[in-house]
Amino acid sequence: MRILKGILRDILYIVAVLRDTLLRRRGLSILMYHSAVTDSDGTDNIGATVSRGHFQAQMSYLVDNGYDVMSLEDGVAALRVEKRLSAKAVCITFDDGYADNYTNAYPVLKRLNLPATIFVVSSYVVEPRMLEHLLKHDVRAMSLSHNQLKVLNSCDLISLGFHGKSHVRLATLDDEALVAELEDGMRELREAGITTGLFAYPYGGKSTFNDSVISLLKRQGIHAACTTVPGRNCVGDNTFHLKRIYVGPDDDIRIFRDKLAGSDKWVSFLIKCARMFKSK
Ligand SMILES: [Zn+2]
Repeated sequence: MRILKGILRDILYIVAVLRDTLLRRRGLSILMYHSAVTDSDGTDNIGATVSRGHFQAQMSYLVDNGYDVMSLEDGVAALRVEKRLSAKAVCITFDDGYADNYTNAYPVLKRLNLPATIFVVSSYVVEPRMLEHLLKHDVRAMSLSHNQLKVLNSCDLISLGFHGKSHVRLATLDDEALVAELEDGMRELREAGITTGLFAYPYGGKSTFNDSVISLLKRQGIHAACTTVPGRNCVGDNTFHLKRIYVGPDDDIRIFRDKLAGSDKWVSFLIKCARMFKSK
């Protein structure tokens, strides 16, 4: 069964690549990471952790297979047709500002010269501590320290983006609370020496943002925002609805390859159908 699944994966991957080549489809894939831990068995209750080994292998895969890894700023500019989008355009993002982004992911990115964006929560920038919004899931992880933020903010490879003041679902806030969350948060970032036009909606699903959120973000100088809605982005897409590709703890290089090519959802669909058929 396992071998059959592998063959099916490979066939669907080839079909996806052929489709993109023949149709000359160009799209921007934005990878979404959270935590990158050292322990190869490391995982958590919310599927936000990728082992350092997997992360290293995934970044090397991008380099070895000719992916055009660009900063998110460049990716957004390409979507606006300000720059030409290559056939294998990829951006790398991290949400929440885990300390392990610095200790584990940054050395890999630096070695391979790959740009990335880390979306930070401003209250953790002011006072680095345990990421509180994860405690209810029994996940204990430290945010980036002042020193780590300083290094990342001053290096060319990493850009820091905004992820809210306190990591709340923005669409659930009333007007006053929403203004406080976004205006105060941006002020806190500016005071810490961080300037950005990039945002990632906390939790990120379609129900977590709306027109009021977007217009307030625009007033704060934000010009692009990432969701957690899966998929690739095409030229002309709304830059406040950027789709991303979630990279999870079980994503070996084959699954990672399939996610980039867009064939993973076909695999999942066929496996689901096969299970349904079997249970009948
Ligand atoms: Zn988050």
